[in-house]
Amino acid sequence: MQSSPSSPRCVHKFGGASLADGQRIRRVAELLLQRAPDRPIAVVSAVEGVTSQLDLLAREAAAGAVDMTRMRVRHRSLLAELELDPEHLNRHFAELSTVLNAIRAARELRAEHRDHVLSFGERASARIVAAHLSQRGVRAVPIDAYDLGLVTDSNHGRARVLPQSAERVRSALERIDAICVITGFVAADAQGRVTTLGRNGSDVSAALIGEAMGAREVVFWKEVDGVMSADPKLVPQARRIEQLSYASARELTAHGASVLHPEAVEVLERCGVAGRVRCTRTPRDEGTRVEPSASEPDFLGVTTRNQLALLSLEASDTALEQLAASAARHGLEPVWIGVDEGRAKLLAPQGEALERSALELGSRAQIQRNVASLTAFHRAEVAEELDRALAAARIAVLARWRSGRSSRPCLALEASQLAAAAACLHERLVNLPAIERVAPRSA
Ligand code: ASP
Ligand code: MG
Repeated sequence: MQSSPSSPRCVHKFGGASLADGQRIRRVAELLLQRAPDRPIAVVSAVEGVTSQLDLLAREAAAGAVDMTRMRVRHRSLLAELELDPEHLNRHFAELSTVLNAIRAARELRAEHRDHVLSFGERASARIVAAHLSQRGVRAVPIDAYDLGLVTDSNHGRARVLPQSAERVRSALERIDAICVITGFVAADAQGRVTTLGRNGSDVSAALIGEAMGAREVVFWKEVDGVMSADPKLVPQARRIEQLSYASARELTAHGASVLHPEAVEVLERCGVAGRVRCTRTPRDEGTRVEPSASEPDFLGVTTRNQLALLSLEASDTALEQLAASAARHGLEPVWIGVDEGRAKLLAPQGEALERSALELGSRAQIQRNVASLTAFHRAEVAEELDRALAAARIAVLARWRSGRSSRPCLALEASQLAAAAACLHERLVNLPAIERVAPRSA
């Protein structure tokens, strides 16, 4: 593979949805083959759905049952679809079976065993993609990220990569003359025990590898057009945002835009490497570029979150403290906590922890389930605009607050009204007159 060794390379990250079947894997290979002279570095997620399935397998094993049939069939049929040897992953399945049987024997699921089990998703997909590339005549090698030197702390399930990894990863990758297909999500601690970076962590792996390599760009290939001005499932008129600053990307992802992992954005910002979100189905489109000097539109979009519940208490000197203390005791991660319209309110993911917190607070607490939240990103002050638009559409607001350094207006509403609210606010904000920019006065 001829290349100029000094020119910065690109990292290409592919999510599970882009690897979901043989046709999609062929498309991924095509994108890498076209870039072969530039020595692309690939980072892959597990095949769609596989990580959740592995998680289930680990829990079932702890409860006494081991059945790997579905997992085997899923990967063997992918191999068959790509005309690869169906036995290709047998060694990995044998290892997975050993770990699952050890969990079954212990009748408990330790965090390090869970990570070991979860790692098979990315280890399998990296091998499938690399084998398919090799079959198409290009040199390609699957690499487990821990073999590159990606070292983390021992916080299994949510491990953090240690700074000394960067130099090891860089020198290891420089020595390999082939397309490297690296496992996302997976690493190891200093003792060599497998760790994982938290769900959807492959984006973070890709950004870290981009940082280590001083990459020209980290491309996050998706099945959507880029970072969109709203979730297209809720707002069909949503459009692609062409450029985003790191700060806006960080804010959007922190408020529910799930297209990128917020920590991946942080890593890119820290090292100044540009990110780009592109679609594998429309590879000629430029996608969304995330970079330091982005020229952004006034209206970036609306972000939404679902499956929340709102817990509230009559406001008093201590109500907010009580809510916060109860949330902390039950391990809740609030989306927001504050006082609004005479009540202390806590908005958090719906589920057992929140129910336990409500139970503990007793009859003084009110809980509203099936709640969604929405944040508007406009350069202008638009809070009143939002209220007027929602009132006209007869959509009730359950709570209002501001968030972040830019004081973005946020709302909670009934989940059943989320699509209507998102569409109506999107339309209103897209059509707001452009903000006049005050020309800088010359001295
Ligand atoms: N496979 C892991 C998950 O599904 C990591 C990732 O996809 O980024 O969470
Ligand atoms: Mg995934």
